[in-house]
Amino acid sequence: ATPTALLVGTGRGAQLGILIKGPEVLEQTRVIDTIVLDKTGTVTTGVMTLEEVHLSGADRQTLLSIAGSLENASEHPIARAIAQGAAAEIGAFAEVDDFRNHEGHGVSGLVDGRHALVGKPSLLADHGMALGDLEAAFEAAQEAGKTVVAAGWDGAVRGVLVVADQVKPTSAEAVEQLTGLGLEVILLTGDNDRVARHIAAQVGIDRVISEVLPQDKVEVVERLQKEGRSVAMVGDGVNDAPALVQADLGLAMGTGTDVALEAADIALVRGDLRSAADAIRLSRKTLTTIK
Ligand code: ADP
Ligand code: MG
Repeated sequence: ATPTALLVGTGRGAQLGILIKGPEVLEQTRVIDTIVLDKTGTVTTGVMTLEEVHLSGADRQTLLSIAGSLENASEHPIARAIAQGAAAEIGAFAEVDDFRNHEGHGVSGLVDGRHALVGKPSLLADHGMALGDLEAAFEAAQEAGKTVVAAGWDGAVRGVLVVADQVKPTSAEAVEQLTGLGLEVILLTGDNDRVARHIAAQVGIDRVISEVLPQDKVEVVERLQKEGRSVAMVGDGVNDAPALVQADLGLAMGTGTDVALEAADIALVRGDLRSAADAIRLSRKTLTTIK
């Protein structure tokens, strides 16, 4: 094989935007029995928007300024939604000192003289900030399948920010096709279990593995392999790369990062999850043709 990507089924593969790293990959498409799908950016568009802000002991302007300024320093899709939503209302961001990214949990830093945190309630709780009277708003948003984060400083949660991501219009059909190929489909995410189950229900996935830290995604794949499964993994983010390598078959969505694309066996140029089913079907067929 050449080091450059091989286009399987030539015309058809190219047409479908499917790049296969080498011929040995074809065999793998035949042995897999389980397919793990990352939620954000794979099943959903990954483009989040800030939809609601709930406050407790802070005015909207202050909350958006602090949360927006902090998140402006992060690349996370949640962070981008909050920074963009805030920018529309506050004008300019404030300066941030001691910025810290708590991978898979949130962010923190010194803004306007306040040590502030934005992220999971558990991260804020670790710093003595409880949801308090914002708990109801937080849970209602989660119940509705939305991603919610808390923002706080000076010993209390001051606001909750609701961001929403949309399921890609073709994801449900893709899940049906993957199931039709004899694969058990599992949704994997760092997000909350309620949100994950809501998304899973929308696309017809029964099994959900949620609240998994980025560095632990690879262990989830390993655990499934120890159960005797042959596992395919579809992801798009930097934090999906180790899991894509560990999987028996790694598929990266083309809208994702270069790191994920490099780690994968198959690159799906289009951001459409149906390409994953196409890639597996086409690879299996190509193998039959070669033999
Ligand atoms: P996913 O697996 O869906 O891509 P991550 O593992 O990146 O999610 O993040 C898991 C959770 O950590 C998020 O759902 C969010 O609650 C929290 N989180 C991570 N980064 C941030 C951030 N920059 N701002 C706020 N919350 C964050
Ligand atoms: Mg992700």
